[in-house]
Amino acid sequence: MASRSLSRLALVATGVLLTSLLGGTAGAQTADTPVFWRVPATAAQAHALAAAGFDVEEGDAGTVNVVGGQAVAGKLRALGFRPSFFDTVYKELPAETNRLAADTFYGGYRTVTAHENHLTQVAAAHPDLATKYTIGQSWKKAKGQGGHDIQAICLTKKQAGDCTLSTTSPKPKFFLMAQIHARELSTGELAWRFIDYLADGYATDATAKSILDTTEVWVVPIANPDGVDIVASGGNSPKLQRKNANNSRGSCTGTNIGVDLNRNSTFKWGGDSNSACSETYQGVSAGSEPEVQALETLARAIFPDQRGTGDNDPAPSTAKGTMITLHSYGNDIIIPWGFTQATSPNDAQYRRLGAKYAASNGYLVGTNEETVGYDTTGTTDDFTYGVLGVASVTFEVGGSSGTCGGFLPRYTCVDSTFWPKNKGALITAAKAAAAPYQQ
Ligand SMILES: [Zn+2]
Repeated sequence: MASRSLSRLALVATGVLLTSLLGGTAGAQTADTPVFWRVPATAAQAHALAAAGFDVEEGDAGTVNVVGGQAVAGKLRALGFRPSFFDTVYKELPAETNRLAADTFYGGYRTVTAHENHLTQVAAAHPDLATKYTIGQSWKKAKGQGGHDIQAICLTKKQAGDCTLSTTSPKPKFFLMAQIHARELSTGELAWRFIDYLADGYATDATAKSILDTTEVWVVPIANPDGVDIVASGGNSPKLQRKNANNSRGSCTGTNIGVDLNRNSTFKWGGDSNSACSETYQGVSAGSEPEVQALETLARAIFPDQRGTGDNDPAPSTAKGTMITLHSYGNDIIIPWGFTQATSPNDAQYRRLGAKYAASNGYLVGTNEETVGYDTTGTTDDFTYGVLGVASVTFEVGGSSGTCGGFLPRYTCVDSTFWPKNKGALITAAKAAAAPYQQ
């Protein structure tokens, strides 16, 4: 046992030392700087750890990754688990960080304000292509504590009736949303790049032109702005806030406050954590959070109800509309259902659509059970598929380790890796909006 303990310590020391040697370290590294701990655990143990308030993430087979500092590792050992160092959470910063523009953090990631200004600029520069909407409010804004509007942009070559928040407007729709989990930093950046690709590319890129001539593309780049404010407040050591900023229940501290907005949607809500400080806390009731209300209101405004109410009612093959919610990490394309281990009544069609996405990004296509390995109730994509019949999937962007892995990949990974891999998948989703179940 002693030697095992020593080797664990050596591994941790190696991780910290590597970070400090690389220069341009991401903030001050201390004994309580969060890292990823690799923890051998059964599915039941992983569930119990999450329920107990540990920050439990996908790991290799038979293991989970738990985020935390030495204190968290000590708690795990006290419970009989054997955590070992897996990887750093914070990556080395790009060399040019000191010359970055305002409204960025951690090597270049955009703040909420930067995203808001971006949408304003795109709409102003391309009035024939872009329409900006406020679709609701964040929790803090709804409570009069600052906060933000939840903003969306609709992109299409505008003809009569286009981008009018109508379920009967002429063109099929692709709905892309990002950063509902605030700390999943790469996702908002991908939404930003897709907006620019379409709006700036319309004049010169035949594919961008074809998409906007035939399709409404709705993008919510920051679905959880209060959470992203908390993340960005850490500067070069982003805070690991996942949930929104709702601190009205429980005695949670730090980044344990909030409701998991991807467990709060109204379809099949109620199977996740009731513990207010848990990272997967589902909230007091279905759709209790204003951010979730905003997303569901938008989805209901642009997509007709195309599916029956039974769990086994398929969306008809003529149903229209695609939806992708961007998360990280795992290199997965997750198809329904989330709430049950059962496959969806459109399973074969989802696997064909998923394979088309994977042709671009190379991710693993499968249900929750086949990818991340846990059930999820109250997710956004279960809502848009289950209630409206829209072909809806989750992307888990990026791998679990290395410079471009985890929640906080080096900013340069967005343009070196994530955008090149996922640009084609987002294009495919837009093209598939007219007939997603006939791919
Ligand atoms: Zn997520």
